[in-house]
Amino acid sequence: RLGKLEGVGVRCYSQNDSQAAMRRLELVPAIRTHISNDAFHLVYQPKLDLQTLVPMGCEALLRWPQNAGEVVPVTQFIEVAENSRQIVPLTRWVVETLLAQEAEWQKKGRPRNMALNLSACLFQDRNFIAGLKDLLSSSSGYFNIECEITETALLGNEDRALALVSELVDSGATLAIDDFGTGYSSLAYLQSLRASVLKIDKSFVSHIQESPGNQVIVRSTLNMAHELGMTVVAEGVETIEDEQFLRAHGCDLAQGYLYARPLALPDLDNWLAARESKGGQPLGYNTYC
Ligand code: C2E
Ligand code: MG
Ligand code: MG
Ligand code: MG
Repeated sequence: RLGKLEGVGVRCYSQNDSQAAMRRLELVPAIRTHISNDAFHLVYQPKLDLQTLVPMGCEALLRWPQNAGEVVPVTQFIEVAENSRQIVPLTRWVVETLLAQEAEWQKKGRPRNMALNLSACLFQDRNFIAGLKDLLSSSSGYFNIECEITETALLGNEDRALALVSELVDSGATLAIDDFGTGYSSLAYLQSLRASVLKIDKSFVSHIQESPGNQVIVRSTLNMAHELGMTVVAEGVETIEDEQFLRAHGCDLAQGYLYARPLALPDLDNWLAARESKGGQPLGYNTYC
């Protein structure tokens, strides 16, 4: 009898597993409190035009509250938020916080493309998407809002999710496929998504010189995406060699530690000012798609 049970859905829990589970459970009320206290932070990582190195836009990334006494990695609290449905109010907070800054970004002449991340599960939620569309329609139009979703986001529940994505695009948002290359999507699927931006995952980009295989993947992704009329962003650009390779192969935009880590607003302003005075390049006031 026991022999039969072996290996059939049997999992051994270690002390560490249960500690991690407890920890996740503790995060649920903390996330709720931080949302209602307006205590989360956003940081902004610039994206640059690879030919001119002009900053064209930013990706907004969530951070755990600074004064919460501990630091919880974003991937960890996002996962907890997704599993506890708090991803809905949390993402609402992100969108509202961004839109409330629009006038200030315009006044300071910060780049206009504003990307945010949307979890896959949000596309199972018709009400959330309707609310998001309402929020976006209150935008003054300075931001070109770009919604980043991972390519596997919608697999499994395609028709309904695709319809919701389509509604979002119709309402004026740009759709970007995040972490491209790490999932299993087909070209047909990519096309049906109506995405106009493709972000190549950093695992193919960072230190590309050391991996001939990654060079092939990046080159063919660029060809494919451009033939489909998409704008391509490389994430995880860390070295000058990465930049040179991407530029030589016609990649449109770059994002990575070579230029800037995700920055708090005052640091972003200093970074933008330093770039403008150094290169004499004007900021990218125009949107790229
Ligand atoms: P992502 O959307 O793919 O964001 C890019 C991640 O790569 C960021 O990590 C960024 O800091 C990191 N990165 C950028 N350049 C480099 C580089 O040159 N080298 C390396 N090693 N890393 C680089 P971060 O901020 O820790 O975010 C991790 C993930 O958490 C994001 O990946 C995204 O999936 C998720 N996330 C962050 N904010 C949100 C949010 O507001 N909503 C949702 N649903 N997910 C979010
Ligand atoms: Mg992203
Ligand atoms: Mg990514
Ligand atoms: Mg990622």
